[in-house]
Amino acid sequence: MVGRKWLVALVVVLGMAVTAPQAMAKQDILFGGASITGVYYQVALQLSNMMNKHAADKYNYIGRPTGGSVFNINAIDRGAFDFAVAQSDRNWQGFNGAADWEGKPVKGLRSVFSMHPETVLLVTRKDTGIKTVMDMKGKRINIGNPGSGQRGNAEDVLRIYGLDFNKDFSAEALQQAEASRALVDQKVDAFFFTVGNPSAAVEEPAQSVELDIVPINSDGIKDFVAKHPYYIMTKIPAGTYKGVDKDVETYAVTATVISNDSVSEEVVYDMVKTVFENLDELKASHAAFRNLNPKEMLQGLSAPLHPGAIKYYKEKGWM
Ligand code: GLU
Repeated sequence: MVGRKWLVALVVVLGMAVTAPQAMAKQDILFGGASITGVYYQVALQLSNMMNKHAADKYNYIGRPTGGSVFNINAIDRGAFDFAVAQSDRNWQGFNGAADWEGKPVKGLRSVFSMHPETVLLVTRKDTGIKTVMDMKGKRINIGNPGSGQRGNAEDVLRIYGLDFNKDFSAEALQQAEASRALVDQKVDAFFFTVGNPSAAVEEPAQSVELDIVPINSDGIKDFVAKHPYYIMTKIPAGTYKGVDKDVETYAVTATVISNDSVSEEVVYDMVKTVFENLDELKASHAAFRNLNPKEMLQGLSAPLHPGAIKYYKEKGWM
């Protein structure tokens, strides 16, 4: 009898040794951010950190830098990322087949929750004399790399102000990290960047040169904003960036965490639950996340919600 007990114990131990590595295998989850100097990359990194801390038994999250919103929506469409961040205006266009997605809507695109507001910034050096959008005539302006969210915003602003980037000024298409450096090095006179505040993309050049942020608030812009539910007029408060000592009026979108409907309900549910149950941790992880709150995080979602997110929001009685 003793011999048989030992045999059973041995089989159990061996069985555990064989099955244990499998049971512990973690699922890799890829999370697309944007430029390393922007805030999206912080979203991807901080959410990944939270998941790797609170759900380490199940997941291995990896945050990646990318080209921005348009790139991210396309990567989500291809299944290259499980989650990514995108502007609410691009999210609307992607799902509905407009602008970059004309005739090819991204039907699998799903919203998970909203993050921080992002302002359409036109950042210049004080020595360029650019005080209004029209002062860009004849200058060198970075309108954003293809794949970025700001590129479409820059194109809208120029169209509304009646400027043509093919003839009124010389347009660059640098990635944001290069654009911030190019502004300091006087290789460009201004750049467009649609970003949460504060962003290192503006804080860093503000350490070496005197910066200014140009208002984007003509009547044409206000009409345009009024016509689109995902835009609002807003102000970047004085003192947000070194040297910019007065409020600057411009318009804003919302950064949205997105996924694909082919990502499992469990993966999305686990992420959403972890985020909302540890929201204070997320809020403390970056200044742009300080004002996050559940009510607003369920607003401004311009593609349908993912079922894994709906499951959690229903459990909480939020919908
Ligand atoms: N809004 C930008 C984009 O869509 C990215 C902003 C950021 O990096 O925080 O490309």
